This record gives sequence, structure tokens and C-alpha cells, in this order.
Amino acid sequence: MSGAGETTSTSEVDVVFIMTELIIATTNQGKLLEIRELLSAMDLKITSLADYPDAPRIEEDGKTFSQNALKKAATIALYTGKLTLGEDSGLEVKALGGRPGIYSARFAGPGATDKKNNLKLLRSLRGVPLSKRRARYRCCAALVDGRGIIDVVSGQCAGLIALRPKGANGFGYDPLFFLPRYKKTFGELNPAVKGKISHRSRALRKIKKSLQQYLRSPL
Ligand code: IMP
Repeated sequence: MSGAGETTSTSEVDVVFIMTELIIATTNQGKLLEIRELLSAMDLKITSLADYPDAPRIEEDGKTFSQNALKKAATIALYTGKLTLGEDSGLEVKALGGRPGIYSARFAGPGATDKKNNLKLLRSLRGVPLSKRRARYRCCAALVDGRGIIDVVSGQCAGLIALRPKGANGFGYDPLFFLPRYKKTFGELNPAVKGKISHRSRALRKIKKSLQQYLRSPL
């Protein structure tokens, strides 16, 4: 393992910790916040694309979530030579034939805001009753370092698209993503609950295992 990280020491006990850096290849603050929280128990110095302003721009031109996740991770790992996590996620709505899927961030067009995407989703489902508004969030995460691919994992979370937005927690489509079991949208649910059941938490639980192994492996 290449410990491209930060060194800290305490004068009393003279112990030196080498923290491995993990770059999260995203500029999405909502995602980054959740990923930081999900990996908070690990000995990692978590950075993001905000710390690498000159990194190459990543065009999300894959046909699947996993292709996009891998492209994000590989582009940044190649550029920096450092351990990188690429994450691609989105919402698939059954009544819309799986749309917006990999185009979730730009459902309402290039540079769309969460608000515009949510409005477009509600318009697209106008007249469709709640029982026919089945949807799932999907997340793929890829872990790559300067030497190659370490792991690619996925996770999903099923729900319904609500008739109107509710709650201000989370990001993206969360005010519309209704979980019948909790009778709440992700926008209303406590973020700690989302952190246990979401597509992202399910994928990252798997990545955590690979990370633990990676951190244990010798140089
Ligand atoms: P990406 O950056 O191409 O992976 O875009 C992911 C998009 O999917 C986000 O911009 C959101 O619109 C949507 N999305 C993914 N995960 C979530 C989530 O946990 N909550 C709400 N929206 C999400």
C-alpha cells in the first residue's frame, strides 16, 4: 500500500500514524457528506476533487453506473497516483422505463438543479397513482489506486416516488423518494436512518471491507 498521506505525531508517546489518503472523485457536496460519514470510522484522510482543482474533467459517458464509477476513479487515480473512490448513482423509475437512471443528475437538461430535476420527475409522473410509482436508487462504487482496480461494488434501495416533495434532508431526489416502511421520504427521515438503508450505504459497506484489507496489506 502506498501511504501517500499525512503524518501526525504526539510528543508524549512518540507514536507516528501514517494516514492513507482516499480521494473521493466527486464535486457533489451531498454525496461527499454522506460518503465521509459512512467512512468516518476508518483511518483515512478523505479528500475530494475540490482539493485537486487542476484534475482532468471527467465526462460521464459510460452506459452503466459501474462504467461511470470506474471511469471517475481510474481518471483521478491515474492523475494523482493515489487511492481513489469513484461513485456513480441515480434513480430508476419503473413507470418511466428506468429513467432517469445514469442521467439522474441532468434529467432536466445540462446543468440542471435538484429542484428542476424534481419538477421534471413530478411532471413525467402526472396522473400516475402512488402504487404505480415504484422506483429504486442505485449506487456503484469503484476503488482504484495508481496500480489498478481494487474493487467495484453496488447497492440499491427501493421506494416510491411521492406525489409531492416533503422534507429538506439529503439532496437530489430525496424529498420525493418515499419509503413505505417508514411512511416518510428521505427528505423527512433522519440522515442516520438513510445512512443505514440507502443504496450508497449498502455499496459502501462492501467497499469498507476492501479498504480494510487494503490498509492491512503490506507495502
Ligand atoms: P452522478 O454524480 O452522475 O452520480 O449523479 C447522481 C445523481 O443521482 C444526483 O445528482 C441525484 O440527482 C441522484 N442521486 C443519487 N443518489 C442520490 C441520493 O442519495 N439522494 C438523492 N438523489 C440521489
